[in-house]
Amino acid sequence: MAKPNIVIIGGGLAGLINAIVLSKAGFEVTLIERKKYPFNRVCGEYVSNEVLPFLNGLGINPLIMGAAEINTLKVTSVNGNSLNQKLDLGGFGLSRFKLDELLYQKALAYGTKFILETRVHDVTFKNEKFYIALADKQPLQADLVIGSFGKRSNIDQKLNRKFFYQRSPYLGVKYHIKTQFPNNLIQLDNFEGGYCGISKIEDDLYCLCYLTKNSQLKKHGSIPEMEKMVLHKNAHLKHIFLNSDFVWQKPETINEISFEPKTTIENHILMSGDSAGMITPLCGNGMAIAIHSASLLSQCIIKHTAAGITQISRGNLEKEYTQLWQQNFGNRLFVGRSIQRLFGSNTVSNLAVGLLGNLPSVSGYLIGKTHGKGF
Ligand SMILES: Cc1cc2nc3c(=O)[nH]c(=O)nc-3n(C[C@H](O)[C@H](O)[C@H](O)COP(=O)(O)OP(=O)(O)OC[C@H]3O[C@@H](n4cnc5c(N)ncnc54)[C@H](O)[C@@H]3O)c2cc1C
Repeated sequence: MAKPNIVIIGGGLAGLINAIVLSKAGFEVTLIERKKYPFNRVCGEYVSNEVLPFLNGLGINPLIMGAAEINTLKVTSVNGNSLNQKLDLGGFGLSRFKLDELLYQKALAYGTKFILETRVHDVTFKNEKFYIALADKQPLQADLVIGSFGKRSNIDQKLNRKFFYQRSPYLGVKYHIKTQFPNNLIQLDNFEGGYCGISKIEDDLYCLCYLTKNSQLKKHGSIPEMEKMVLHKNAHLKHIFLNSDFVWQKPETINEISFEPKTTIENHILMSGDSAGMITPLCGNGMAIAIHSASLLSQCIIKHTAAGITQISRGNLEKEYTQLWQQNFGNRLFVGRSIQRLFGSNTVSNLAVGLLGNLPSVSGYLIGKTHGKGF
């Protein structure tokens, strides 16, 4: 029996990794992405080193692309408390502009077919086949569909996913800046209602990315005014804002970011990356989870469809992938949500940073609980 043909919806890290592994294994893979590479996204651009063995195995080395090596975390609170923590595993800083482009070129080289600048409108499943409706193009058919459409997509609404209808208070804002800052440090600065990450990426650039609440933006009327009135109350952050060159005229922004639990399978679509569940950015390893979940899913597909796809093999694939996802990521996402609650208000984050600053073994333990091991 022929290998099933696979359509991947969304070409972020999860979609691109699935495309690379499955195309390399000889599947016919089509990836549909609504944008065109390369492009910027809201993301802190710090990647946990747990992904390096896997990426190196695919012949991908972010360090030769100029990625920064990061091994220290500093967390600050509005009242001036700070804690420093060595990151045992560490990470690297590389812009999504470069990283996604690198993976896109790799997938092309392995034979993935790309349909770019095209939005998937709808996906239906009937008689063991998927029907994928595209904007302004002929519909596609597939034996398997991978949903790697990120935090929130029109497809979530089509699938009636519960989290889509729960309003989320969060807003993400990102800049690339030029500044004076240690190359090996990731700094998390807290402010009322949110936190901001700063770390080195390639060339002479740094990524400055923060998560805040929509209510803060509403209250202050514009992003610059909100930054002045809220973020600048943290002296560390004010110093960065006033002593850096902002490379873009306007920041990248996204809203409605949900950290609620999601399902790994919907109407037989196999969810990968943020579509299956998103860890809070505070933990700095959503990208590692996206890459790892894609690697697990691809291996499951390879294993269960060696003799083609049947109702039974589809059932076994869905069951095993769901178990693997829960075992690997369920607890990390739960701990991430709990830690985020510590950093919602000035008073609690002042206390948390003060307390954890005196208890390096506890902060080390929390970092360990939200991070994985090399895979
Ligand atoms: C403020 C913030 C800061 C963060 N900082 C970090 C960090 O420092 N380190 C870290 O590891 N993680 C961080 N993350 C998390 C990280 O960005 C995500 O976990 C990661 O990008 C998930 O990758 P993905 O492939 O699942 O989704 P994405 O990268 O979001 O890709 C989804 C893709 O699907 C496409 N798409 C959506 N709908 C459709 C459709 N209908 N048709 C076609 N295409 C579609 C989109 O255009 C997009 O390209 C942060 C997140 C936020 C919000």
